[in-house]
Amino acid sequence: MQSFQPPRRVLMGPGPSDVSPRVLAALSRPTIGHLDPAFQGLMEEIKAALSRLFNAPDHICVPLSAPGTAGMESALMNLLEPGDLAVICVNGVFGTRMVDMAGRAGAEVIAVEDAWGTPVSLDKVEAALSGRQAKVLAFVHAETSTGVRSDAASLCALARKHGALSIVDCVTSLGGIAVDAAAWDADVLYSGTQKCLSAPPGLSPVAFSKRAVASIAARKEKPRNWLFDIGLLMSYWGGEGGRTYHHTAPINALYGLHESLVALFEEGQQAAFVRHARMHESLVAGLEALGLEMLVAPEHRLPQLNTVKVPAGVDEAAVRDHVLTHWNLELGAGLGPLKGQVWRIGLMGASATPWHVRLCLTALGEALAAQGYQGDRAAALAAADATLA
Ligand SMILES: *Cc1c(COP(=O)(O)O)cnc(C)c1O
Repeated sequence: MQSFQPPRRVLMGPGPSDVSPRVLAALSRPTIGHLDPAFQGLMEEIKAALSRLFNAPDHICVPLSAPGTAGMESALMNLLEPGDLAVICVNGVFGTRMVDMAGRAGAEVIAVEDAWGTPVSLDKVEAALSGRQAKVLAFVHAETSTGVRSDAASLCALARKHGALSIVDCVTSLGGIAVDAAAWDADVLYSGTQKCLSAPPGLSPVAFSKRAVASIAARKEKPRNWLFDIGLLMSYWGGEGGRTYHHTAPINALYGLHESLVALFEEGQQAAFVRHARMHESLVAGLEALGLEMLVAPEHRLPQLNTVKVPAGVDEAAVRDHVLTHWNLELGAGLGPLKGQVWRIGLMGASATPWHVRLCLTALGEALAAQGYQGDRAAALAAADATLA
């Protein structure tokens, strides 16, 4: 064997996003013990930073030692017991995954389906919740498979109105658009580190409300997963009264998350949201000047995940191949019914800069030209620059 040297890529897919040199440097600092007092100080800082990030002062906020999917699994497995009713919104890949998990928790599931590329319909959710005692309403705030934002505030309000606990997938939204657990009165929120937080994958920040914790405490049987049982986890992350061994936290990964949070607060969360929105406007202006069309209606678009329709006669995979080979640029493919139909262009965290937008337009323009598609690349760059002037 030899040491692995990864190629130097520019990451503009659905995640991971580019990790900044300061976060990479933090990851390589010396490993210490997970019960070391210095490490416990770091854990406390991370908890406080996550509660600020989710705006969840009254929630329990910790990073789970596994990627975003762990947050999803933890939310569903902790809140649901066999026989419980879960209303789950499906308008892309991640809603589909939640339905599967809730079924495995033994819940009865009502899936509220909306077309891929459209937001969750409030009317359909209201109809599904009405006249039934659902334990949980789960939905994806920012659907990374389609580039659609759903109305989290209204969906959480519907859950409250009908006495259900809300589960909000914020994997792609956190750090890129506003997430506000307190204003939404949301119960469980979970995210990941490799999207708009621009740390490597492998951790899942979660927030559990007091209502959610009380509901877990009142369970008839234990949650069916041990590692992400929130009650057990709190003996490790809880702090007060000393920590007891639960598992060994991924120490260096937590250095990375901590540094990415320091960077985000240095910039300011609002400033980061504005940056994502501006880069999105710039990219869309450039793509449209190239003659390309967006999948999602403007009012439902996510700034951090842009779905672009593949023009007729163009080979979707060949374009991604071209930009990877010639520009070291990673773009995302369509999933499910959108396979071969769209590209997914991420502008997440450290990948949301004018340089990334210009690189993407240049590389994409060249790849399209190689297939005989006539787009004006100079006009695309000019349009992208004009929005930032
Ligand atoms: C990426 C993603 C996940 C899963 O996160 P992993 O870190 O890949 O496990 C879940 N939900 C959404 C909306 C995502 O974008």
